Amino acid sequence: MRLAFVSDIHSNLEAFESCLAHLERMGYDSLVCLGDTVGYGPDPNECVDLVRKKVTLCLAGNHDHAVIGSLDTSYFNEYARQAASWTSSMLKSEHVDYLRDLDIITEKWELLFAHSTPFQPEMWNYIFTTEDARLNFAFFEQFICFIGHSHQPFIVAMTPEGEIKVYSEPEADLNPEWRYIVNVGSVGQPRDGNPDSCVGFYDTETRRVQLQRVPYDIEKVQEKMELAGLHRFLIDRLAYGR
Ligand code: ZN
Repeated sequence: MRLAFVSDIHSNLEAFESCLAHLERMGYDSLVCLGDTVGYGPDPNECVDLVRKKVTLCLAGNHDHAVIGSLDTSYFNEYARQAASWTSSMLKSEHVDYLRDLDIITEKWELLFAHSTPFQPEMWNYIFTTEDARLNFAFFEQFICFIGHSHQPFIVAMTPEGEIKVYSEPEADLNPEWRYIVNVGSVGQPRDGNPDSCVGFYDTETRRVQLQRVPYDIEKVQEKMELAGLHRFLIDRLAYGR
């Protein structure tokens, strides 16, 4: 089975549509969304509509929880908080209900899926370092845990000897003796210095992981954000992928 992944769409419809077109071209059996469908961008309703049409397994992220009122946003920076309150004022109630029913971590196809981390997923921590990865490997047993949240794609493994290996390439044939954490990056607000969207694939037979970049019309979404009155900082960062 060939799984396709999107995460952190963040109400960026232009990015999401370009990614979906790319995924269809490449081919997949089931599409997984690892959360944060809304927050930051100008098209929350359209993005949730498309997720509901296309996605087999969808998780909720911290921004989804903020927008539906299930998370206190006092720890968000002012841009994120402002975007969350703008989004809640726009979001249709059926989409609020849909997001409220989603898990933040779940197992399927003998794999683990989480928005943030396998360890204390409700704390919305990040995996940035090899030590963060090591801690989290102790809190799941599946072959792979797929995550999003940091908007920075990576593939990291732990060997049976407990060694942590960070892959330098965006594609890899996974070693069946090792275990993995794969961050599939962000569709709607990449932060690794590359402004193109990121999507992922995993083939359960060949055990091949692929993280691929997809360009989209950044200026168009920036114009929509300006019209919606979203913050300049959020508009500008899309062009830099930061
Ligand atoms: Zn996010």
